[in-house]
Amino acid sequence: MRVLGIEGTAWCASAALYDAETDAVLIESDPYEPDSGGIHPREAAEHMSEAIPEVVDDVLTAAEAEYGPNAVDAVAFSRGPGLGPCLRIVGTAARALAGTLSVPLVGVNHMVAHLEIGRHRSGFDNPVCLNASGANAHLLGYHDGRYRVLGETMDAGVGNALDKFTRHVGWSHPGGPKVEAAAAEFAAAAGGRGDGSRDGDGDGSRVGDGDEDRSRDGDGDESRVGDGDGNGNSGSVAAADLLDLPYVVKGMDFSFSGISSAANDAADDGVPVEEICFSLQEHVFAMLTEVSERALSLTGADELVLGGGVAQNDRLREMLAAMCEARGAEFHAPEPRFLRDNAGMIAVLGAKMAASGDTIPIAESRVDPDFRPDQVPVTWRSGESV
Ligand code: ATP
Repeated sequence: MRVLGIEGTAWCASAALYDAETDAVLIESDPYEPDSGGIHPREAAEHMSEAIPEVVDDVLTAAEAEYGPNAVDAVAFSRGPGLGPCLRIVGTAARALAGTLSVPLVGVNHMVAHLEIGRHRSGFDNPVCLNASGANAHLLGYHDGRYRVLGETMDAGVGNALDKFTRHVGWSHPGGPKVEAAAAEFAAAAGGRGDGSRDGDGDGSRVGDGDEDRSRDGDGDESRVGDGDGNGNSGSVAAADLLDLPYVVKGMDFSFSGISSAANDAADDGVPVEEICFSLQEHVFAMLTEVSERALSLTGADELVLGGGVAQNDRLREMLAAMCEARGAEFHAPEPRFLRDNAGMIAVLGAKMAASGDTIPIAESRVDPDFRPDQVPVTWRSGESV
């Protein structure tokens, strides 16, 4: 089976062809990158309306050149969650294409696609999944025919939390990679000093000097935030180099709104931006690592997959990998082209859904900007015992 997938939930117009027989994926993407500020829904939709026909045409042309006029067996598209104006353009394109080609239409949940691509690429059986994307942050686990939300952000998505800070300091979207680069710069400079001290006055104003900054990781080992093992961008930076930012975890839920505001305030107070980026990353990723470990512990799972655009961050992957190694769990993050928004993951899940007969009549295929992962009956795993 070959499926043409279309993705366009927010900023990235993308089309892909997935050939299930060879497990090969061709992805074409055209991102919307504003010169300044964040994603503007109207501008993003304007971008989609121009870019979606182009990427779809590129993929369809390549598909027909390779496989002939019957190259596509089904069309899959992101039904949500996402920005309504963008989703509607994608939905319209997918319906038109499925109708023209006379093939079934498959409506894919974008968050479940982030998860499933990790499961597909890793070969893991029943992982906990951390979706660390721009507008979302979820911990998901499969139980009784659905992906259950084990924990989630109580406010902003993880990428949006980083982007909110970078917008405040005048950096263009996307902010996450710039935060990563600035944090690495700070770590390299602090590591170069050898003692990890920022100002040498020992004033104790940073986290790392009291109990409240220990990462509560569910098994009581109290590994410290920022105690990197020397191969990532935390380098030899001491916990005393961390700014005191809000760390909010409630069970397996978490919150980022306070930390974004505190980071903005620190910038207004003149704290060097590289230093804020470093502390912001360490805190946010420690929260995600803590809740992931709790989810593994409580579900008894021994596999973790990571998904979403923020998963491109080396430091996040390093922290999760270290946590998994410490508890004997396996960890997998797909390669970057499957982490950021991409139609490859829509086509791969679309093929699994189509193979299990999970297609959608055009009349029922309206998009859903608030489509939650636990609304999706997981038809393609029905033969599995979990
Ligand atoms: P969603 O998938 O929830 O709809 P989204 O469409 O915004 O979210 P993704 O492509 O999953 O998008 O992720 C984009 C986000 O990833 C942006 O917020 C961006 O700043 C962040 N990001 C990208 N690269 C990195 C990185 N290296 N470090 C941290 N964040 C990053």
